Amino acid sequence: MKKLIEKAKNTHSLSREELVSLLTDTTCSDELFAAADDVRRQYVGDEIHLRALIEFSNFCKNNCCYCGLRRDNKNIERYRIDEDTIFLLAEHAARNMGLKTIVLQSGKDMFFTQEKLCNIIRKIKTLDVALTLSIGEKTLEEYKAYKAAGADRFLLRIETTDKDLYLRHDPGMSFENRVQCIKNLGLAGLEIGSGVLVGLPGQKIESYADDILFFKAINADMIGIGPFIPHPDTPLKDAAGGTLETALKVMALTRLLLPDINIPATTAMETLAPNGQTKALQAGANVIMPNVTLTQYRKHYELYPGKSSTNYTSDESLRQVREKIASIGRTVSQAKGFHIRKPLA
Ligand code: SAH
Repeated sequence: MKKLIEKAKNTHSLSREELVSLLTDTTCSDELFAAADDVRRQYVGDEIHLRALIEFSNFCKNNCCYCGLRRDNKNIERYRIDEDTIFLLAEHAARNMGLKTIVLQSGKDMFFTQEKLCNIIRKIKTLDVALTLSIGEKTLEEYKAYKAAGADRFLLRIETTDKDLYLRHDPGMSFENRVQCIKNLGLAGLEIGSGVLVGLPGQKIESYADDILFFKAINADMIGIGPFIPHPDTPLKDAAGGTLETALKVMALTRLLLPDINIPATTAMETLAPNGQTKALQAGANVIMPNVTLTQYRKHYELYPGKSSTNYTSDESLRQVREKIASIGRTVSQAKGFHIRKPLA
């Protein structure tokens, strides 16, 4: 295993079989995390990029079996934040909190048309920030329109590259279309963010290996990996859920194979363990996304239960994040944090 980790560290390339061996082995996690931490330092440095997350609508027309926002969940109060308030939240994040990237996330909400979204994008871009969208599957024309309005990046997780599993857990959706949408982000000139859930019922070690190779194949700029956490109002309520350990291993291997990309320490990792994000930052991650949604709405954006920071105000969440970063001797970047491609050493 040590040899394989060395190989990954030096060549940033592993076969599917080699990935499977590392993912299966239960003794090598600490070495793997240390190697990913070294590669992270070498390629993207000690600075951590903060992204201000605004969860602006929890309406969703999709019915993903793992997600608390699914259409059939009648136990959540649906909300939309209006355009002016979205801008005020972005302005507070940029001017008062000093954050350099705004992330707008929502369910698949048809209320926010291309025109409405482009208006919001143009307004937010007057704040001298980078802007990321995470609003689900759209057409290539829409992605191009967001880019023309000023959007810089887009997050669309593949969720899992195991097609059968994807179709089982995302009823009514097309796996091919999801892949095409991810490719279209690149064609539209947006930075490509993707990622997977770890620990879905039926998800196999082999498919994590495929996931990591997929991230390379799509030339991802950013990859977010989170453990699946069962939500009581979904069909997967009785599932076991993912573990922090496996999620961190998939993340660390992603860092080894895609050394210069941006990788967030995800909120779902923090939800599973109070030091989950700190561990992630020491196992390959270089990004944190503090939540700046108004406190009154946060509890309704319940992708999964116990979503970390639900009860804190934005300023409190940010203070905690800064403390976490300082406690491990890292610093907060003042740059917008674009993906800078580096020649592989
Ligand atoms: N509607 C947008 C944004 C999705 S929400 C889209 O389709 O892309 C952001 C992410 O939350 C999802 O991509 C999914 O990976 C994650 N998520 C959803 N339910 C979850 C759960 N139960 N546990 C952990 N993560 C979950």
